[in-house]
Amino acid sequence: MKKGLLSIVVPCYNEEQVLDLFYSEIKKVLNKIEYDYEIIFIDDGSTDHTPDIVKDIHKNDKQVSLISFSRNFGKEAGIYAGLSNAKGDLIVVMDADLQHQPKVLLEMLKYIEEGYDTVTTQRIDREGESFLKRIFSNLFYSIMNRFTDVNLVKDSQDFRLMKRIVVDAILNLKEYNRFSKGIFSWVGFKTKYIKVDNVERPAGDTKWNFRTLFNYAIEGILAFSTVPLRFATIIGILISFGAFLLLLQVIIEALFFGIKEPGYPSMMAVILFIGGIQILLIGVVSEYIAKIYYEIKSRPKYIIREYIKPTEREG
Ligand code: UDP
Ligand code: MG
Repeated sequence: MKKGLLSIVVPCYNEEQVLDLFYSEIKKVLNKIEYDYEIIFIDDGSTDHTPDIVKDIHKNDKQVSLISFSRNFGKEAGIYAGLSNAKGDLIVVMDADLQHQPKVLLEMLKYIEEGYDTVTTQRIDREGESFLKRIFSNLFYSIMNRFTDVNLVKDSQDFRLMKRIVVDAILNLKEYNRFSKGIFSWVGFKTKYIKVDNVERPAGDTKWNFRTLFNYAIEGILAFSTVPLRFATIIGILISFGAFLLLLQVIIEALFFGIKEPGYPSMMAVILFIGGIQILLIGVVSEYIAKIYYEIKSRPKYIIREYIKPTEREG
């Protein structure tokens, strides 16, 4: 008698070099546990042989399914599609590149059986990363934790095992701009963090670069906070107050001491400074308007080109 169904959700974008290895590693783990399983590979518009490899795996293992997107929609969309189609009592989201080590799943299951609702991993350190990347990541976590609605545990990963109830809660957040780290934390539940070593990719390349990481950080802040807007208001108040004092000074001087020489350079500096701040603040407001714009369109988060379902289990 099995303990239940475990769904494994794996977003993949051009992962042909690691998929077979991933499958054999995860199978080793699945053979050790008392759960039925299904593996859902989400091919996020790969341009290599990722979908063909999944189809080959499916030929011999009918618990493996493939959701192919019509183009690259991003990992967040892949996770959403996987969670929406997962049937398990327990659901785990993990990367295809073995940076989320399948064997950790055994430990995660132990905590679920102890009564936790969700278990996630946290990197012990950022070894192997550049100094600059570390500084920015520290900055990101401190901004998120100080100013937004969610608390992110530093260096937590998107490797997460969840009970059905947690996944249902996550699927209830229908937003188009999906920042998974924030969403996972926002829904709450009894969460266990386990520390893991940082693992290098065995093959293939990371899909991230400085620009995409920067955008990701901005998305995270905008998705869970309106503090930048408050910040805009505060700057506005401060500057108006300063300008008011300056005006008072000018009037008093003009009344009592007569008008002095006009100060062209200082005037120019003030105008440019205030002009710059105005543009910045309009930019902040526009970022939110852009978000609203995308949300009200309520476009689908992804489009499926091909769906190879797992074969129904008997009995
Ligand atoms: N991924 C995806 N869509 C994308 C980019 C990445 O589904 O547009 C997948 C990728 O195939 C991998 C996981 O997301 O399984 C993590 O990507 P990556 O290894 O590039 O990120 P890193 O581990 O460097 O943070
Ligand atoms: Mg990776």
